[in-house]
Parts: sequence; C-alpha cells; structure tokens
Amino acid sequence: MRPSLLDPLFAALTTLPGVGPKLEKLYRRLFGREDAPARVIDLLFHLPAGTIDRRSRPKLRDVMPGSVATVAVNVDSHRQPPANRPRLPYRIETYDDTGTLTLTYFHAKRDYLEKLFPPGELRYVSGTTALYDGMLQMVHPDRVVSEAELDKLPMVEPVYPLTEGLTLNPVRKAAEAALTKIPSLPEWQDAAWLQRSKFPSFAGALTTLHHPAETTDILPEGSAWSRLAYDELLAGQLALALVRAHQRKLPGRGSSGEGLVRAKVTAALPYSLTPSQGRAVDDIVTDLARPQRMVRLLQGDVGSGKTVVALLAAATVIEAGRQAALMAPTEILVRQHLATIAPLAEKAGIRVAILTGRERGRERTETLDRLAQGEIDLLVGTHALFQDEVAFRDLALAIVDEQHRFGVHQRLALARKGEAVDMLVLTATPIPRTLVLTYFGDMEISELREKPAGRQPIDTRTIALNRLDEVIEGIGRALNEGQRVYWVCPLVEESETSDLAAAEERFDDLQQHFGERADLVHGRMKGAEKDRAMQRFSAGETRLLVATTVIEVGVDVPEATVMVIEHAERFGLSQLHQLRGRVGRGAGHSTCLLLYRAPLGETAKARLAIMRDTEDGFRIAEEDLRLRGEGDLLGTRQSGMPGFRVARIEVHGKLIAAARDDAALTLSRDPDLASPRGEALRHLLYLFERDEAIWLLGAG
Ligand code: ADP
Ligand code: MG
Repeated sequence: MRPSLLDPLFAALTTLPGVGPKLEKLYRRLFGREDAPARVIDLLFHLPAGTIDRRSRPKLRDVMPGSVATVAVNVDSHRQPPANRPRLPYRIETYDDTGTLTLTYFHAKRDYLEKLFPPGELRYVSGTTALYDGMLQMVHPDRVVSEAELDKLPMVEPVYPLTEGLTLNPVRKAAEAALTKIPSLPEWQDAAWLQRSKFPSFAGALTTLHHPAETTDILPEGSAWSRLAYDELLAGQLALALVRAHQRKLPGRGSSGEGLVRAKVTAALPYSLTPSQGRAVDDIVTDLARPQRMVRLLQGDVGSGKTVVALLAAATVIEAGRQAALMAPTEILVRQHLATIAPLAEKAGIRVAILTGRERGRERTETLDRLAQGEIDLLVGTHALFQDEVAFRDLALAIVDEQHRFGVHQRLALARKGEAVDMLVLTATPIPRTLVLTYFGDMEISELREKPAGRQPIDTRTIALNRLDEVIEGIGRALNEGQRVYWVCPLVEESETSDLAAAEERFDDLQQHFGERADLVHGRMKGAEKDRAMQRFSAGETRLLVATTVIEVGVDVPEATVMVIEHAERFGLSQLHQLRGRVGRGAGHSTCLLLYRAPLGETAKARLAIMRDTEDGFRIAEEDLRLRGEGDLLGTRQSGMPGFRVARIEVHGKLIAAARDDAALTLSRDPDLASPRGEALRHLLYLFERDEAIWLLGAG
C-alpha cells in the first residue's frame, strides 16, 4: 500500500486549480499516458526545457529588438481598430523618458485592455520586442503588472515542452500549484552522499526546477535535475535488486537431462552452430541445471542466430518434462519465430503452439486447454501471453525477445506464470554496458559476436535523394537479375498516418516502374494481410517490398539482397543497422543504399559515415549513444530514456554505477527495507512507481 503521505502527489491533476477535464486530456497526451488520468506527480516530473529570462530591465532606448525585456512604461493612449475593421490590431502607445513602445494585441477585448492599461499609469510589461515600421513594439506582452505587483513578476520563468492546444501559462500555473502539494517527506538519500554531490532535497530540487532563480537552475546537469535523476536511478536499481534477491531466494528447480531433445534439434539443423552460439547454449544449459534461477541476457547482432539458441534452451527444459514460452513484441516476429522453430521442433518431437491477439474462439480455447494440460511444450506469442487466462501446467523457462520493448513488470508477469521460472532475454540491439545495468541490473550475459558462416559483407552506400532516378534504374537491373529488394520509407513525422502516406506514394511510384513485382507492407495493415505480404515476398511471388518500419525487427528472408532506406538521415543508427541486417543473410552479395536529402548537417554526415564504415553493431550502438542519446538507440522515438522520466543517460549515465552500489549496499544491510532509511526508500520506490518490487519484500 502506498503511504498516504504521498496521496496529494498521486491525486488527479484536476485537483489543481485551473485544470478541468478538457485540459486534463491534453496533459495526458503531454505526459504520454493517454489512457490513464494525469496526476500531480506527472506534472512535477515534467521538467522545463528552457527558461525565459526577464531580468533585463533596459530603458526603451537600449532595448535590443528581438530580445525579451521587462520595461517600465507610462500608458499614453489606446488606439482601437475602427468598428468596420475589427481584425486590425488594438494598439496601446506607451513611453518612458528615452523612447516609445507600442503594445499590440490581436482580437483583444477592449474592456480588458482598458482595465489593464489605464492611461497615465505606470506598468511593467515583459515580453519579446520587435521593430515594426521602425518603431519598437511588443506583440501580446507575456506579463503586465503594476508597480505594486512587481515583486510577483517572475524574473526567470520555466519553459515547458508542450503539446498542441496547451500553452505555457496554464502549465506554469499548474506547476506552481503542484509545488504546493509536495508533502514533507523523509530524506531517503544517504546524508554524506547528498553533501558530497551537493544535491538539494527532493522537494527543493522540484522547487528549483519549476521555479528557477537562474537560467542555469534547470539544466539537466545541474544539481536539482541530477538529484532527481539519481533518485530515479536508485529507485530503478533498488527495484531490480529486490527482484533479483527475491529470485535468488526462491528455490530454483534444476532442469537437466542427457540433452537428447537438444541433440535432435541440433541434428535437424541444416548448419552447425557458430562457436559463440555453442558457448551461449552451454552457459544456458549450465544455468538451467542449477537450483538457482537463471536471469540471462543473450545479446547478438541482427542475424547472429539467437532463435536457435532460444530453441535449444527450450529443448533443455522440455526434456525435463516442463514447458517454455517465447514472447516477442510483434505479430510478424512471432510468426517468423514459429516458421524457424516449427520444422525443427517437429523433428525433435517438441509440441509448439502460437498465441497472439489474432487467435480467437475455439482455436484459442483449445490452445489454452492443451497448455494447461501440458500438451504444449513451447508456446510462442505476443503480449497475449501475459493474460490471466493463460495458464501453464509447468512453465520452466520464459524467453523474451527484443526485451527493451517490454517493461520489468511484464517480465515479472510472465515469470509468475510458473514456479521458479528461468528467464532468458534476447536482444538484437547491442546494448552498451551502462544501459544493461540500467535496465537489467546485474544479469548474466551471453554474446553472439560472430555472424553465422557464409555471411558476406554488405556493401553500404549513401546517395542523395536527387539521384532517385538512377537508384530506381539500378533497382530495375537488380530485379531483372532476380534479386529481392526491400524499400523502407521514411519516418515523416511522429505519426503513423503521414508515414503511411509517404510509403503509399512511393509504392504507387515504384509500381509504375515494376508493376506486379512490387508490394507494400505497413503497420496499419491487419495481421493476416501483413503475413500474406511477407509470405509473398518470402516465396518470391513479389520481389520489391515497400515497407514502413514494420520490417525493422527480426524478419528473415535470406534471398533478399538489396535494402533501400529512404531518408536514412531520419532514422536512429541502431534502427538503420537493424534494417540493414535484413539483407546479407543468404549466399548472395548484398547492398544497402542509404538515401538522404541533401544537404546534411555535420552530425547527420558523421552518422551515415559510420553506417558506411562498419557493420559492427556494438560499435554502432556506442556511436549512436554518443551522437543521439539513448532514446533512438532503444528504438523509441521519444526523447529521454524509455521507462525513465527524469534521468537522461547521456547526462546522468555516470550516476548509474553509484546507484547500483548504493542499492546493493543498502539491501545487504537492510534486506527488508525496515530501517529508517529503508522506510524512506519505500517512499522513493512509490514515487517513481517501482513499487511492484515492494510486494516481493518478505514474500516467498
Ligand atoms: P537473430 O539473431 O537476428 O534473431 P535469427 O535467429 O533470426 O537471427 O537467425 C538468422 C538466420 O541465420 C536464420 O535464417 C537462421 O536459420 C540462420 N542461422 C542461425 N544460426 C546459424 C548458423 N550457425 N549457421 C548458419 N545459419 C544460421
Ligand atoms: Mg530474432
């Protein structure tokens, strides 16, 4: 149960003055929680992106047009627009002893302005100045106060990221009101550490950020933001450590055998395992045989062959008479896995079934029944696997593909479906060590470093979009030679609709050149349609597949040898790397064309150059992190660390190790968080909503 002390922070945002249901909707969008009520805490963690500095108080003669200034002016006269032309602006002439300033309002209420600016009186106005017809003016001043109210004029004002329909002033007011809701909280950070880091208190940090005195107060690297970032990182590390401690405490059940089922799978493979695949399998088999629970990350670049390793892991527990689940984030991926696994499984006598949102009715009920009876050995599926009605007879191993798309609690939800479930996480994004720590804590790691034998290097070229005609000609030649081509369309905006429009337009265009050979697949298509399009391409019925980024992850068509990526400059490096990894999987020589719109900025140039220079996913990931920050690396388009609200890896990454040590030390001394600091830390876990870990305290 959340301590009631925190209730005001988790209260609905509508409890703040000025936030009604209509605005609340906009706040939800702003906070990226469209389907949950916006709360006071969400606003407090919505930190400023900049400030407006109103401290400059020049005389009118010295005002720099274009700058923000606060000036003391005398109100001279009002000039209303003529009655027949109400669209003209309403002007107020003002002056000081050095010059004049015109205040300009559009669609203004006359009564309101007459009250605000009584002729003959002194007013302080603050806003952005401009020259208009050689005269100094200010359009819609941000702030107007009388001399008596001057001390209420904020000199440094925060500027917040906004969303359409929501303007700064109401957000500022709401943030001010939210600050008053912060209860007096026990300090959860170590006193010496606070002092050494020069961190303010939690409430102090929020107050500084939403109510800055200096423009530098709101910088992410400043002490206020860093304090909150450390809080968040510590909460994350504590939660991970609690989960781990809990998992260690639970008696695992060793699953071992003679490896007969595994041997059957291996025998059915048309190739032999690479050395690193072999090592990964050995690691996993050893882990599985131990009575402790396994939590292992299998990292491997695209095409490095993780699926087979996963299947061999599953075979191990299946031989012990138990069950395994393989979860992937998308329909396409799930079906792809199934396609790889099914023929091998059949030869090894492993009973496989699929469960996604698309399996409904009788088929679904039947699958669930058989699963509960233990007649299914391996269940492959999407998020559908989390659902309550999914019950295993004896789940021993949960394998999660493309882990970063799933949250910790989803991982836990799957683990709870069995007794002492071992966990294997697959990721194609080579994650730098700092990020591994952030998301997984101390996990065992297996890496698939080398590509399966027979892979050829991919010839990567960058080409300006104005040479599109040549590119299309080249594609024509490739198609005539029987090659298969992916053509990925750009991310136009943060909206699927516009992505789609661009893809459809390109498709129309290419279809005119290549007719029936071209096909289109995009995220708005129904699952079955998508599968059919993929199948046609995979079978060679179509040869040019125009796609939005739905093909990004995991799709495997070894015959595809050309990858065209339009507006490559708009993609994250790791995304480009993933996309490129769709080709170069078969015997043929492969090419990747990165089309960009010229001119490119310096960073964009550097990024595309990296893609041209290397196919090493780890190097690309490191560069990506350096050049763009972690958001893109993990394949999300929002800024900031996915799953983190205030911490930013490129700024606060160096705090992660400290947070990890802090969490480990704290739990070694106080495993139940029962000491005064432990009690205070419970508040922290709730504040950053890592409280799912709290129920583990004292449990099991
Ligand atoms: P990823 O790691 O990207 O998930 P997959 O598991 O989809 O990679 O494997 C990519 C392709 O490589 C598949 O077609 C798979 O059959 C093939 N493959 C996997 N291991 C080997 C190997 N040792 N030798 C040759 N091909 C392999
Ligand atoms: Mg894969």
